[in-house]
Amino acid sequence: METGGNSLPSGPDGVKRKVSYFYDPEVGNYYYGQGHPMKPHRIRMTHALLAHYGLLQNMQVLKPFPARDRDLCRFHADDYVAFLRSITPETQQDQLRQLKRFNVGEDCPVFDGLYSFCQTYAGGSVGGAVKLNHGLCDIAINWAGGLHHAKKCEASGFCYVNDIVLSILELLKTHERVLYVDIDIHHGDGVEEAFYTTDRVMTVSFHKFGDYFPGTGDIRDIGHGKGKYYSLNVPLDDGIDDESYQNLFKPLMEKVMEIFRPGAVVLQCGADSLSGDRLGCFNLSIKGHAECVKYMRSFNVPLLLLGGGGYTIRNVARCWCYETGVALGVEIEDKMPQHEYYEYFGPDYTLHVAPSNMENKNSRLILEEIRGKLLENLSKLRHAPSIQFQERPPDTELPEGDEDQEDADERWGPDSDMEVDDERKPLANNSQPARVKREVDEPEVKEMEDQKVAVEQVKGVETKAEENSGSKAPDAVPMSIDEPTPVKVEQENMTKPSDQSAQMYPKP
Ligand SMILES: [Zn+2]
Repeated sequence: METGGNSLPSGPDGVKRKVSYFYDPEVGNYYYGQGHPMKPHRIRMTHALLAHYGLLQNMQVLKPFPARDRDLCRFHADDYVAFLRSITPETQQDQLRQLKRFNVGEDCPVFDGLYSFCQTYAGGSVGGAVKLNHGLCDIAINWAGGLHHAKKCEASGFCYVNDIVLSILELLKTHERVLYVDIDIHHGDGVEEAFYTTDRVMTVSFHKFGDYFPGTGDIRDIGHGKGKYYSLNVPLDDGIDDESYQNLFKPLMEKVMEIFRPGAVVLQCGADSLSGDRLGCFNLSIKGHAECVKYMRSFNVPLLLLGGGGYTIRNVARCWCYETGVALGVEIEDKMPQHEYYEYFGPDYTLHVAPSNMENKNSRLILEEIRGKLLENLSKLRHAPSIQFQERPPDTELPEGDEDQEDADERWGPDSDMEVDDERKPLANNSQPARVKREVDEPEVKEMEDQKVAVEQVKGVETKAEENSGSKAPDAVPMSIDEPTPVKVEQENMTKPSDQSAQMYPKP
């Protein structure tokens, strides 16, 4: 397989990238329940591999600050977030109506620490976006994130909050256009839906299509309104191998990068598209999967790498460890180092596993048709059409002082916000700027300042009643987020005080 890529003017490929890696040591303790295929333990296994391959010392290791209610409410409905916060395994029997309403209970069970889990994985993704926005790293990684099925007011497909949508909203504060690429075997429906009507986010999903969860992602679904042609769906069938996959991925992504010219890229690296996945039916090798990372990295655009699905957990850990190496520009050896989960990887104890001999049901002809159709759709996009290029407004300045010297209470107090985005107006009675802060595991003092990061908020949890009276996100239809005032917002200056027309899409 060729490993060639493109280089944007910012620099040639092959230079080392500065990588920030988000990991919370608690994440492996969350447990969806007996027999449930989603196992957060795989994140801890990945981390152990990274540690024993010696990769942690090559990047900044950060413990995410948990996302707060109002951070989550930038996309999710207040009552849904309040429900996630309050529901427990003990009380769920009293909440049957709510459980049903929010699609919690079956695929998305209530388990101990559910809300903290959501805060943790969302905190990592948003924190990564903040790091990228501030130019403090080239690539940010959060393997605990990538939960692409969650909807504004509904859990779906093992996902409760959509950390991807939240991180893209954060990136939109700095970048006029953000590209989302999804190589999970399942359609990235939650993210597509959230940005279906905007031209500021292009979503591209490669997925199994046809009698498969979640059922969306038809090639004819291309976006709507201003977002027409800004959603790209690549429907695939069982058994796709590395070569077939890359024959689509590379030409399509090359064209997307050329035409859309994103300021940042979010790549969801769901590992259920690997050969031998417990729920998947593709036949990708780890190298084939990682080739997508390598290729997107080659464009030299700020890159957020997220996890996602992946249910044969030894292979998930293998894949994300290898892909971390790709992000760092390090080729790690196949022979696995001894570590606490070593026994999972027998009998070979190698990083790579051979794909199977399963039939590739994607014929050359069909793949060519798909490629041709999608390239044709892309050609209908003028070069970044409705978007005026404009000078980037200055970054909000980080206040001085070491956050690590604050105590926990102070950190969460409103006055401790390190960054205030005045341009984003919270809804009427929510006057507090939001922020997500992170902690650093490593001792570098100069990095401490980086932790003081802010997450702008559009909606506040505290404004439940008022929320629906705002002009924004008025109901359960996620699509409404781009309406009705996107044009207005684009005219606003970043530093202007805001009115009530809080925007789903921050203006860079
Ligand atoms: Zn999946």
